Amino acid sequence: EKAIAVMTSGGDAPGMNSNVRSIVRSAIFKGCQAYVVMEGYEGLVRGGPEYIKQVTWEDVRGWSTEGGTNIGTARCMAFKKREGRLLGAQHLIEAGVDALIVCGGDGSLTGADLFRSEWPSLIKELLETKRISEQQYTRYQHLNICGTVGSIDNDMSTTDATIGAYSALDRICKAIDYVEATAYSHSRAFVVEVMGRNCGWLALLAGIATSADYIFIPEKPASSEEWQDHMCNIVAKHRSKGKRTTIVIVAEGAISADLTPITPKDVHKVLVDKLGLDTRITILGHVQRGGTAVAYDRVLATLQGVEAVNAVLDSTPETPSPLIAINENKIVRKPLMDSVALTKSVADAIQAKDFDKAMSLRDTEFVE
Ligand code: ATP
Repeated sequence: EKAIAVMTSGGDAPGMNSNVRSIVRSAIFKGCQAYVVMEGYEGLVRGGPEYIKQVTWEDVRGWSTEGGTNIGTARCMAFKKREGRLLGAQHLIEAGVDALIVCGGDGSLTGADLFRSEWPSLIKELLETKRISEQQYTRYQHLNICGTVGSIDNDMSTTDATIGAYSALDRICKAIDYVEATAYSHSRAFVVEVMGRNCGWLALLAGIATSADYIFIPEKPASSEEWQDHMCNIVAKHRSKGKRTTIVIVAEGAISADLTPITPKDVHKVLVDKLGLDTRITILGHVQRGGTAVAYDRVLATLQGVEAVNAVLDSTPETPSPLIAINENKIVRKPLMDSVALTKSVADAIQAKDFDKAMSLRDTEFVE
């Protein structure tokens, strides 16, 4: 009988609770014991029954309808150091856990893969320093790891959607609808900043869904003169046709061609100085993460939870750690490290100012 643990790590995302519920129940359904690790990697480093807890079927009742993550999440500096991971290994073995499923972003999944690849040397050191017994050393030779992608940014390559992205998109669209009403009343322009880190997915799709006038995304930067003229021409054209509202969406990672950030303040200044528009800035902030998950994220997280448990049960020391993705509506397994490497290559291409490459590496095909 295997013991499967799940943790959430990095930024919280709506749907994480559905994922945890599904993993816990699938594990129990398959005859395994289910554990949760509280507070992300912090819980692994701290260890003990307060942080690595066995849970029952009933413990996760109703979680699909709850936002955030009930088992907590954290950014944990200690886990980035070997000593932190050594403690993590010791605590997992003490708790009797065989497999770990991590729901998080690319940072969390990189950490998970590193943990697995280091595992043989970690347990050797634990044995040599007498922190685990010979028996434990033999029993826990291999740590099964699996990743599910929880992030509102939809920034992971090789999966069409990350858990939480459609919920955040829905919240952004509602917020922009609200702003639109007041913009119309006063005939104002609004510059709306949305999250997404280095990824323009939220800004792009919110722009399409709300029929915004202009958007800024990190993957398609322009020089300062170019974007100023381009934006002003478009906005002026819309205004000349009688439009009373102007909505410009700025991704938080928006940059110009020389890689300097484009901030809502920069855009505000141009709309005021060049077009004389009465302009306001709205930074949506953490409301984008809040609230319950939309149906799509609940379903995605539930199906991926089932597959994550299947994947760890199938895994052997030779199989590369899997990441559970969705491609063209099918739940599939991908080699976790390839997905993380591809994700990183988008950021690298942007840094190298190879924007065409950055765009071609994104999975959203209609960016053009
Ligand atoms: P989000 O997309 O929401 O930012 P993320 O998983 O990318 O999520 P990070 O802050 O990058 O968020 O990572 C979360 C945690 O994962 C870190 O605080 C750290 O504990 C662990 N982690 C990240 N990168 C590594 C790494 N290279 N090695 C070991 N652990 C890591």
